[in-house]
Amino acid sequence: MNIKEIDSSYIANTYSRFPLVLTDGKGSRVKDENGKEYIDMSTGIAVNAFGYSDNEWISAVTEQLSKIQHASNLYFTEPAARLAELLVNKTGMKKVFFSNSGAEANECAIKVARKYAAEKKGTDYYKIITLNNSFHGRTITTLAATGQEVFHKDFLPLTDGFIYVDANNIEELKKAVSDNKIAAIMFEIVQGEGGVLPLEKDFIDSIKEICAEQDILTIVDEVQCGNGRSGKLYAYMHYGLQPDIVSTAKGLAGGLPLGATLLGDKTADVLKFGDHGSTFGGNPVCCAAALNVLNRIDDKLLEDVSKKSEYIFSELSGAKGVKSVSGLGLMIGIETEKAAADVIDACMEMGVLVIKAKSKVRLLPALNIPFEDLKVAIEVIKKACL
Ligand SMILES: *Cc1c(COP(=O)(O)O)cnc(C)c1O
Repeated sequence: MNIKEIDSSYIANTYSRFPLVLTDGKGSRVKDENGKEYIDMSTGIAVNAFGYSDNEWISAVTEQLSKIQHASNLYFTEPAARLAELLVNKTGMKKVFFSNSGAEANECAIKVARKYAAEKKGTDYYKIITLNNSFHGRTITTLAATGQEVFHKDFLPLTDGFIYVDANNIEELKKAVSDNKIAAIMFEIVQGEGGVLPLEKDFIDSIKEICAEQDILTIVDEVQCGNGRSGKLYAYMHYGLQPDIVSTAKGLAGGLPLGATLLGDKTADVLKFGDHGSTFGGNPVCCAAALNVLNRIDDKLLEDVSKKSEYIFSELSGAKGVKSVSGLGLMIGIETEKAAADVIDACMEMGVLVIKAKSKVRLLPALNIPFEDLKVAIEVIKKACL
């Protein structure tokens, strides 16, 4: 049997894969089992921040790998401590809890919010407002936080206590806050799975104001839009917001599994000994990888991300077959006249990997994609949209 057949026989049927077996890559280029090369504009869904086989990243990972690969949280290790310090220094947050995925980073955020509100206002203040069309993960609780019915059906009952409002609808948000006992408002600055939709500034300002007035926590889910992707280290930094809790994962360790929940002034000391834990969380190899990634997301790189973003927007906006372009930084959604799946297939045929977000074509290239590769990819995408 070939790899596709073995996979279909033995791996649970949860994924509809593209018909490619990827074998190896370098930078923004990746090869399939037949040796065909592609420019990768998807980076494993915003994970491979510096592309494939990046020399510096490999050195950081292998150096740590040859020292100690895992220790559990019963012991101290240097990479986790240094990474937490770096995250705090770069964000103005105060403490960090490490886990292994976006869903887990959000689980921690939800636990912290519930405990904070219970201690501050009473145990009946447990409700969390999230947005329709959001995506926060696949565990029973983060599914409940996810404001999309399609993911819920078949798995009911989900965790109680989530209320959904439409993104950018300030009136609906205010009503939900006044009608319920609210612990937190949780949102993505740019809805990724929902179609690459940035929130409007007025809406974010309203959340900020409401939360400050009523001691409601702001939880920002930066799992996809974080770690340099938006053109700032974290997307909330575009909006003059200082969240109470930030969750992140995907690009954080550049291709190894790592989640982080960053806790602010109000929430830093909510969790006490025994309140939460993770066997793998803060794994030294993953943290060494993340230290390398975060240390390289400097002003120069972020400026490049913004320039590449501007280039993509200017090339695609108004192009033939393109209805609209949305997003922030190198997280871009393209509404196409053709079905997104057809555009994706045509791109693949011509050697460019792009993915879907709802009915849109989604671009999530490496933060350091060479301009020459980006140019070729955009030409191909334009051709595929015709
Ligand atoms: C991908 C994603 C998650 C879930 O992350 P996993 O690592 O798959 O658990 C949560 N929130 C957002 C915004 C995401 O894009």
